Amino acid sequence: MISSRNRHTIFLLKGGLIVASVVLFVATVMLYVSQARQGALLTATVRSSGWVAYQAHIELVKTEAAFATTSIIPTNDGLRALRMRLEILRSRLPLLYNSDEGRLLRGVLDIEPQVRDYEIKVDRILEEVETLDAEDGDSGHRLKELGATLEPLGRLLHSTLMQSVAYNQEIFRREKELAQATGIVPLVLLFISGTALALLLFFQARNDRLRLDQIMQAQSTLKAMEENLRAVIQSVPACMVVIDPVDDTVSFFNSTAASLISTSPDDPGWRRLVRGARDASNDMSGRQWGYLSMAYTRPGGEIVSLRGSFCEVLWQQRPQQLLVLVDTTRVRNAELQVMQAAKLATLGEMATAIAHELNQPLAVIKMAVANAKRLLEPLEGGEPVAVKLDRISAQVDRAKRITDQVRRYGRMPTEQHQLFSLRTAVEMAMSFVTEQFRAADIRLSIQADVPAEVSVFGEQTMFEQVIVNLLVNAHDAFETATPNRSRAVRVTVRREAEQAFVEVEDNAGGISPDMLARLFEPFATTKPAEKGTGLGLSLARSVVRDMGGSIIGENAENGARFVISLPTALASVSRDAA
Ligand code: ADP
Repeated sequence: MISSRNRHTIFLLKGGLIVASVVLFVATVMLYVSQARQGALLTATVRSSGWVAYQAHIELVKTEAAFATTSIIPTNDGLRALRMRLEILRSRLPLLYNSDEGRLLRGVLDIEPQVRDYEIKVDRILEEVETLDAEDGDSGHRLKELGATLEPLGRLLHSTLMQSVAYNQEIFRREKELAQATGIVPLVLLFISGTALALLLFFQARNDRLRLDQIMQAQSTLKAMEENLRAVIQSVPACMVVIDPVDDTVSFFNSTAASLISTSPDDPGWRRLVRGARDASNDMSGRQWGYLSMAYTRPGGEIVSLRGSFCEVLWQQRPQQLLVLVDTTRVRNAELQVMQAAKLATLGEMATAIAHELNQPLAVIKMAVANAKRLLEPLEGGEPVAVKLDRISAQVDRAKRITDQVRRYGRMPTEQHQLFSLRTAVEMAMSFVTEQFRAADIRLSIQADVPAEVSVFGEQTMFEQVIVNLLVNAHDAFETATPNRSRAVRVTVRREAEQAFVEVEDNAGGISPDMLARLFEPFATTKPAEKGTGLGLSLARSVVRDMGGSIIGENAENGARFVISLPTALASVSRDAA
């Protein structure tokens, strides 16, 4: 990792290099521009300096030509033309040192004194030419002589022109060299700074690429994490809903929430859920976390109990609220059933107490009836009354039997196991429900293939309660069964080797498929809360297990069948001995 100090240094270096390169580039461009301008100026100057010498030379050549022509055939017109040429030449000569171009020529060679001599000479020639007469026969000869005097001026002008050209060429050469020499330094510097800049850009691009790769990798990791998180959220068996606090719309919900409310985000159920959550949590806005417990009514009228929490989350780059709720309907129902069971237990205790209290008056009635019958015996015509007294006595016996059974059933288990006759215990339990079955028109039969001596080891009262529970369940099953056949419950007691079996089978239609899997679970019931607790079979299993046996529930041909398997006393004794 690069420290922040190093990063600062690199940043400064980069900045310095870029600034230096830009400055150098600008300086080089300006240098080239100024050199080009200087070159152009010099060229113009050199051309100008050669030009005056050239002009003067031309005029001299023309003047010499005029001399030559006029000297052969002197005419007045020729003399006039010659004079004009001489005047032009005369006017050109001062330009060789006095004009701007002439002053430049002075840098090549100083010809001013010589030119001034020729000016005087030309003046004299001019004066003499003016005096010449074309008719004079000697004038041609004289003109020839005068023309000859200008020959050295021609040489002077020619050599001046040549030297000026040579000088100009020399200046050109030097200038070129200078331009090349001075141009190379900024070029080299420009090359170095350009290369450095290119390298810098290259490394910068490489670093950027590396950083981009890292960012893209981080982004893909983040995306994978997000997908994992979404998968986890989707599979969580709790409702997870993300709420946008701006307009209370649902931004996300998992599959559990969808199965509770709806798969469509536009379903009005979501609004009801959010409103319910807000009410239950005293308005979630302004708080970061909190518990809530609420109820949600499904469109079918089913009330679902929900408990959970909400918290602030960053979802889709915006602060939103995550609502996590667990369906606690079953727990709530179980709580209600426990309360119901507690109430039933209290009722059971009361029933036992009442049965106990009734025993005394029943005994008094029984005794009073016996006394009355005894007093009636010697009296004449007392037979009808005696019959009535017998009926009273029989009903008192029946009532006594019932209170005995109630007391027996309600008696708390002592946890003291002992041997008891399996057949007797089953018959005792059956006798307890006989009246109920008769009232409901259910035929209750027993097939006992074991002698009464066959004993099992355990708490007899508890075992009787197990059988009673199975019989009551069969009785209750007929309440919802279709009445297309005669109602019957058959109890079978049999023995195979050292194992005894008690089967309770009815023809009430059987156990519902969803109940079959949870039959022995505590609080699993299909009965209304005021009737069923879902504890009967769960308690039955634990009682039978305490006796070293097992119990299964299944669907038979026309109804349910429960089979209890128990080791006989002989078997358990021999097992204990082993
Ligand atoms: P409860 O009787 O309080 O519901 P149980 O544990 O005794 O509790 O029974 C659990 C459930 O098993 C019943 O609610 C009923 O749905 C089912 N069940 C038990 N026995 C039978 C039966 N003979 N026929 C049909 N269903 C039965």
